[in-house]
Amino acid sequence: MQYLTAIEMLEVWDAGQNLSPTRQALGLLGAACPEESAVDLSRLSIGRRDSRLLKLRQAAFGAAVHCQASCPRCGEKIESTFAVADILRNAGESFFRAENGPYLLECRVPTSEDLLLAERAQDAAEAKNILMDRCLTAAPHGGGEISWREVPEDLLRAAIERMGDEDPQANLRLAWTCPGCGHEWTSLFDAVSFFWTEITAWAKRLVRDVHALASAYGWSEAAIVSMSPYRRQMYLDLVNS
Ligand SMILES: [Zn+2]
Repeated sequence: MQYLTAIEMLEVWDAGQNLSPTRQALGLLGAACPEESAVDLSRLSIGRRDSRLLKLRQAAFGAAVHCQASCPRCGEKIESTFAVADILRNAGESFFRAENGPYLLECRVPTSEDLLLAERAQDAAEAKNILMDRCLTAAPHGGGEISWREVPEDLLRAAIERMGDEDPQANLRLAWTCPGCGHEWTSLFDAVSFFWTEITAWAKRLVRDVHALASAYGWSEAAIVSMSPYRRQMYLDLVNS
C-alpha cells in the first residue's frame, strides 16, 4: 500500500460523489493499492479494509482522531480525541465453523464484495438474506442439503456473533461517559464515513484555495494542489493581505 498524494485523493473524492460508502472505500483502496486487483481488494474483510483506510487516513491527516457525540440521555455534546493506533484491531479468522449438535455452519466474515451485492436489495431484509446466503453455508444434514435458514436459531445467533468477534475492526465501538449526567453508552465507529467526511471537508477547502490562487496567479490546479499545504497557505496569506 502506498499513501495518496493530494491530487490522487482529490480525484478519488471527485469520482466518489454519489457512490455508496462501500464504493468510496474501494476507490480509496484502489488508488492506494495499485498492485492489487479490484477483485482482490473487494474480497478483503470489512475490518482488513477499514484498517488500511485508517492507516491511509493517518498518513493524510495525522494520527489524532476527533469524534463528537451527543449524550442520548441529556443531550450534552461530548468530544473525544484519540490516536488512530488506539482503534486499530487485529483481524481474527476469516473462515470458521460453528456447530450445535448435529448441525454445522461454514462461516465467512463479510467483505466489500458481499456488501456491494447486498446494496442491490430492495430492502434491509433482502440485504440481510443476501449477506447470510453468501457468508453462511450449512453442512449437509440427515442425508440432504439444508440452508442456514433451517439450522437452530441458537446456532445462527452464535455464528453471527462470532462473525463480529472475528472481525473486530468492522465492529469497533467507542465507549462514552457523559460528564454532565454520568450516562455511559457505546457507538459504532464507521471508518469509511469518518474518513470520507474528513476528505470532503478537506477537498472543499482545497478547491476554494485553488480558486483563490488560480485567480490571483493564473497557476494550474495541478500546480496548486501539488504544492505543500504550508507553501500554499503562504501564497494565500499574500493574496488575502
Ligand atoms: Zn448526559
